Amino acid sequence: MDHFQLKDGVLHAENVALPAIAEQVGTPVYVYSRATLERHARVFREGLKDAGKIHLAFAVKSNPNLAVLKILANQGYGADVVSGGELERALAAGMKAEDIVFSGVGKSSAELMLGLDKGIGQFNLESEEEGQMLAEIAAARGEQAPATLRVNPDVDAGTHAKISTGKAENKFGVAIDVAPDIFARLSKLDGLNLRGVAVHIGSQLQKLDPLEKCYTRMGQLVSDLRAAGHTITHVDLGGGLGVPYKPEESPPSPADYGAMIARVTQGWDVTLMFEPGRVIAGNSGVMMTQVIRIKPGVNSDFVIVDAAMNDLMRPAIYDAWHHFEAVRPTGETMTASIVGPICESSDIFAKERDVDRVQTDDFGIFRTAGAYGATMANTYNSRPLVPEVLVDGNKFAVVAERIEPATIMAAEHVPDWLK
Ligand SMILES: *Cc1c(COP(=O)(O)O)cnc(C)c1O
Repeated sequence: MDHFQLKDGVLHAENVALPAIAEQVGTPVYVYSRATLERHARVFREGLKDAGKIHLAFAVKSNPNLAVLKILANQGYGADVVSGGELERALAAGMKAEDIVFSGVGKSSAELMLGLDKGIGQFNLESEEEGQMLAEIAAARGEQAPATLRVNPDVDAGTHAKISTGKAENKFGVAIDVAPDIFARLSKLDGLNLRGVAVHIGSQLQKLDPLEKCYTRMGQLVSDLRAAGHTITHVDLGGGLGVPYKPEESPPSPADYGAMIARVTQGWDVTLMFEPGRVIAGNSGVMMTQVIRIKPGVNSDFVIVDAAMNDLMRPAIYDAWHHFEAVRPTGETMTASIVGPICESSDIFAKERDVDRVQTDDFGIFRTAGAYGATMANTYNSRPLVPEVLVDGNKFAVVAERIEPATIMAAEHVPDWLK
């Protein structure tokens, strides 16, 4: 459930009519709903009520906006970060260092050092080599870094290949069959407090079966590690729960997910850690755009909008579907392709789709844009960087400004020797 609904024929975010935001901030623009973010954070936590001791870490990469992170910090969430930059953001938003988990396959020595400097709660190691590097850095400081070993369980997540991470051929984690040996070697290092294992098999999962298979394997691994004399206190089960992008989709609910977790992890006697991203942020945001003009095409008309693939990359890189709606729907529909102004054929949001009828200057939204939306935006074609707005009841605020080409040009330099 979200708070982007029609009221008196006009789409609203909570109690704010979307045209009011377009008027003040312009388009394209991302609009987030505080009530929706809070609701999703609450529902996810409630789903896990029978899962024993839990730790929730919002996957910052899904939406790193400081205001969004602040909302989640207030909901008691920590952060799952994958770079030094995300670590700085999580701290700046008020998340406690001890609630931060550092994931990512290529943490540099500088990033490991930063994590130690800030006193973060846990490093999820993605290789034996990374574990050795962290141990060395921590030992030199006279410290023990809290860590888990990320395991690749060789499970097909059944999602898009570009967001699958748990198949044997993927770059993430260490293969589950060699994990016990690597764990044994790393656990001997002075600089590490290796306290558990972690897993994350992919994103936008539409079914619980792959997760259940994965978690069952993790349960066996925990038993094997304990039998070998290791102390296991933490198991990080990652993120990945899907959201509906099309009205007719119904991925597993947080309640279904939580019930499965409670069943599969019964008796593990650990702190279970979670790294949800999309399921919290996805339907908490929309991207609003304005129609520039309608251009007749061979198969159907082109609706040319002022948003483009640089503002919302998911359709271009994952063939993702974002539901389009007119901000003032007339009840009429049209078959059209919705495209942006960028000089690439992949700059297309919808191909020959039945959509609300729109005309020049009308506003429309792409739904489910709160996760992996603004954070992936760039300035290709020297377009401005898209702004972000947060709505709370009757009020709204710009939480990320539009960055104009002039600002970006100001950071570029033509060397003297070209003059
Ligand atoms: C991306 C990522 C997540 C979040 O995935 P969602 O599908 O957004 O829930 C969690 N953990 C890790 C390690 C990730 O890379």
